[in-house]
Amino acid sequence: MKTRILSSVSLAAAATALGVLSVACVQTPTTNQTANTNAAPATTTNATIPAELKPALDTIKADDIMAHTKVLSSDEYEGRGPGTKGEELTVKYLTEQYQRLGLKPGNPDGTYVQKVPLVGFTGAARASFTANGKTINLNFPTDYVAVSRRFVPESKVENSDVVFVGYGVVAPEYGWDDYKGLDVKGKTIVMLINDPAVPDASDASKLDEKMFKGNAMTYYGRWTYKYEIARDKGAAAAIIVHETGPAGYPYEVVSGSWSRENFDIQTPNKNMDRAAVEGWITTERAKELMTASGQDFDALKKAAVTKDFKPVTLNAKANIEVKNTLREIDSSNVVAKLEGSDAALKNEYVVYSAHWDHLGRDPKLPGDQIFNGALDNASGTGEMLEIAEAFTKMTPAPKRSIIFLSVTAEEKGLLGAKHYASNPLYPANKTVANINIDGVNQWGRTKDITMVGDDNSTLIDILRDVATAQGRTVRPDPDAAKGFYYRSDHFEFAKVGVPALYINEGTDYIGKDPGFSKKKREEYEANDYHKPSDEIKPEWDLTGAVEDAQLLTLIGHRVAQGDKFPEWKTGSEFKAKRDETMRSTVATP
Ligand SMILES: [Zn+2]
Repeated sequence: MKTRILSSVSLAAAATALGVLSVACVQTPTTNQTANTNAAPATTTNATIPAELKPALDTIKADDIMAHTKVLSSDEYEGRGPGTKGEELTVKYLTEQYQRLGLKPGNPDGTYVQKVPLVGFTGAARASFTANGKTINLNFPTDYVAVSRRFVPESKVENSDVVFVGYGVVAPEYGWDDYKGLDVKGKTIVMLINDPAVPDASDASKLDEKMFKGNAMTYYGRWTYKYEIARDKGAAAAIIVHETGPAGYPYEVVSGSWSRENFDIQTPNKNMDRAAVEGWITTERAKELMTASGQDFDALKKAAVTKDFKPVTLNAKANIEVKNTLREIDSSNVVAKLEGSDAALKNEYVVYSAHWDHLGRDPKLPGDQIFNGALDNASGTGEMLEIAEAFTKMTPAPKRSIIFLSVTAEEKGLLGAKHYASNPLYPANKTVANINIDGVNQWGRTKDITMVGDDNSTLIDILRDVATAQGRTVRPDPDAAKGFYYRSDHFEFAKVGVPALYINEGTDYIGKDPGFSKKKREEYEANDYHKPSDEIKPEWDLTGAVEDAQLLTLIGHRVAQGDKFPEWKTGSEFKAKRDETMRSTVATP
C-alpha cells in the first residue's frame, strides 16, 4: 500500500552501475562520495559505516531483488491473495528462501509460519435513503460501497435515523468531541474522511499546526478509526463521505477493493460489536442526501472544522442491507529468525516486516484479471530477503536477534501484522524496533531518503546518521497529509508501543529533473496503484533500492548493537503505550 515510481534508466545500465554503487555507498561522506551530491557533511560521530559490514552490505543486489520480485509477481502466483493458490506458492517460496539463507524458524513452535485465521466475506448490498418523502436509490459500487464485518449471513438497518457527525472524531488531547453527548445508538452516522481540517486562526489559507498535526494526517483521519469509533458509539451503520483530496486516493480505489472479497481476523464474538454496516458514499450522492434533507453539504463541512460543531440529525432515514457470503481461511505470516550473538541480548529483537500479499485475481474483470502487485509488495518482500541475506553474512552476528516477518493480508487492513501484534511470537517489550518495507524505489539512486510520518522516534535520529554516512539527506514526509504512516504494517507495531520506522524513496534523483519524482509518483498513483498493471516495468532501476536496503540494514544493525532501546519522542501518540509496556516487569504482548 504505497506510491512509487519508474526510471528511464535501463536495467542493464542499472546492473552496470551497481558494481560501482555497492562500493560507493559504504564510503563515508568524508570521501569523494559526496562530490556529486548535496549531502550534508558528517556532523555526528556515528555517521560512518563500519568497514567490517561492507562484505555483508555488498550481498544486497539489484538483480536479486528483481529476481524475487519476478517470481512473486508472476501470473502463476495469481496476485498473492490470502487463502488462494498464490498464498500456498508464496509461503512455500518464502520458507525456502529463509531456509536457504540458514535462518531459523521464526515461530518458537519450530515452524516458519504463524497461522492467521481470517474470515473472507463478500457482500452484496442494497441501499437507499428517504429524505423529505423523496427516495434516493444508490447504485453499488458506483455511488457507494458497503460491507458488514459481522460474520453473519445478513445485516441490515431499516428506517434508521441519519446523523451527520462531522469528522466523527473524539480526541480528548485536542478537546475535540464531534458527538457532544448525542446518542447515536442504532443510528446511521455519516462522516467526513481525514481529521478535522481546522484553519489557522491568523491565516485561514493554512491549517492550525496545533490541531491534528496541521496538514499531516493523524490516526483520527483514517477510515479504520472511523469505523472503530462507530463501533464504540453503538451506531447501526457508519458511512464515510469520500473526497479524493482528504482521502488521499480516488473513489475507484475504494470501490475497487470494497466490492471484492474482504477479510478480517476471526474473533470469538463474530464481530457482533461492530456497526452492522460500514460503507463509503461518493461526495455527489452525499450532497444529494444533504440537499434533499434540507441541508447544505458545504455549510455542514465548514461547521465541522470547529470545536463547537454539533452533530446534525438529517431529515432522512437509511435502509441498507448487506448479504454476506462467508468463508474461513487459514492464512499465514511467514517468519524467520537470526539468533543474536550476545547471550543476554539475544532475547531482545529487531523485527523487519514486509507484507507478502496483494489483491489476488478478479475473475469478473475483462482482460488482465491478476493484480500482480510487483511493486506492492513483491518488491519490498524481495528487498527484505536481501536484507536478511546481508544479516546472515555478518560475523559476528548482531548482539540482538533479528526477526524477518513476511505478513499476510496487509491489503485487507493490516490483518497479518495486527494478528502478530495481538499474538506476538516475541514480547512487545522485548521488541526494540520494527522496520517496515512496503514497495521499493524503482527509479534509480537518490540524494535523499524520505521519512514517513513525523520525527516521532529516536529511530529517525539513527536514520539521519546512516543516511549521512551514505552521503544522503533525510527529507520530511512530503505526503504527510495522506497519512502513510498509518497505512502499512509498522503501524500495528506502533499501536502496541514498539518504535517503528517506515521510509519512502527519496525525491531528489541523481541526473533527473527536479519534477521527476513527483511526476512518477503521480503516474503510479493514477495508472498502477492497486491495479492489474502493477507489474515489473522495463524501465525499473533498482540501484536506489539497493542503497535503501543497505540503509535499512545498517539501521537495524545499529539498533541490534545499541546500548539503549529506541524510544518514541515526546508528543508521539504511541509513547504512553510504550511506557506502559516497558514498566511491566513481565514480558507483555
Ligand atoms: Zn497496497
